[in-house]
Amino acid sequence: MHKKIYKRIAVKVGSNVLASTDGTLDIGRISHIVDEISNLKKQSGVEIILISSGAVAAGRSLLPSTNRMDTVSARQLWSAVGQVKLINTYSQLFAKNQLFCAQVLTTKENFSDRRHYLNMKNCISTMLDNNVVPIVNENDTISVTELMFTDNDELSGLISSMMNCQALIILSNVDGIYNGNPNDENTSVIENINASDRSYENYISMQKSGFGRGGMHTKYNVARKIALEGIDVFIANGTRNNIISGIIQNEKIPFTRFHPNGRKLKSSKKWLAHSDSFAKGIITVNQGAKEALFDMNANSLLLIGVTHIKGFFKKGDIIRIQDEEGNQLGLGKSQYNSDEANELIGKKARRPLIYYDYMFLYE
Ligand code: GLU
Repeated sequence: MHKKIYKRIAVKVGSNVLASTDGTLDIGRISHIVDEISNLKKQSGVEIILISSGAVAAGRSLLPSTNRMDTVSARQLWSAVGQVKLINTYSQLFAKNQLFCAQVLTTKENFSDRRHYLNMKNCISTMLDNNVVPIVNENDTISVTELMFTDNDELSGLISSMMNCQALIILSNVDGIYNGNPNDENTSVIENINASDRSYENYISMQKSGFGRGGMHTKYNVARKIALEGIDVFIANGTRNNIISGIIQNEKIPFTRFHPNGRKLKSSKKWLAHSDSFAKGIITVNQGAKEALFDMNANSLLLIGVTHIKGFFKKGDIIRIQDEEGNQLGLGKSQYNSDEANELIGKKARRPLIYYDYMFLYE
């Protein structure tokens, strides 16, 4: 495999890379990662967006005993205290490399509204245009329970998709996805995974690792989904030195690489691809409409092919599309509210229920 030249990459660093076994921030490791990013930027001009966990772990190590607090409050306190420590550490280390970094804290809800999404995209683009390294984390102080990302792996996928990165590197404390139990002697890291091939799913270890929220299962799902959007994804060990440059130079070191299937999505479709949890209604379409959606003609979804509508939604809300057997076909942005759409079911209407450009269909 030839080395690819990347112009913009996202690097996700997990808590297990940034924190030592006692939970305190591993300054040596963070410093190494910052130096690597800084050198890459200076040598090749590549734009790098960092998605960094570690706030909760850092906060917990600073304030280990909390006064009779429930788990949500403790997490809010730790993340608030820890994020300051984390970003300060990054800021000082980037300054040593004559670079500025900037903090971006976000929530899952910010991705549900297209205007917020575009604001966030514009903000990170401006940072990159000014040679500043954006450091993104979830705003853990206000993201609780159902409003949370599954973990920062999910967040890194959303950011790399939104920012049109050519590669996403997910760093944790293991070398990649193994073809068996990582503790077995005969087990090795799977080097290449084709995003369209689902046969690797049996290998994924359900084990979670130490401090972080994510496990290999979510890493795999995020990696596959993002690769299917045309982005190269790597899962690698961030506790190894020079891992980011090693991946970019395609050196002979262990990591798992997910190969895209060649599909390139427009920005509006990328946004929809990650909006499943925000869907307000479900549209059932007949066989003819299903065939029209999946043929090569870039068809919009017309109300004449709709057989059933469930849920209440406004014009502009995201809705799910399914066939009559209940198979999920995709997502789209509705051009009608649910009352209007219900009245026009099965009829020839002036405009489509979902325009082609605002529809994302699963593989
Ligand atoms: N946002 C959390 C933190 O900074 C980490 C979430 C995760 O482990 O993925 O501590």
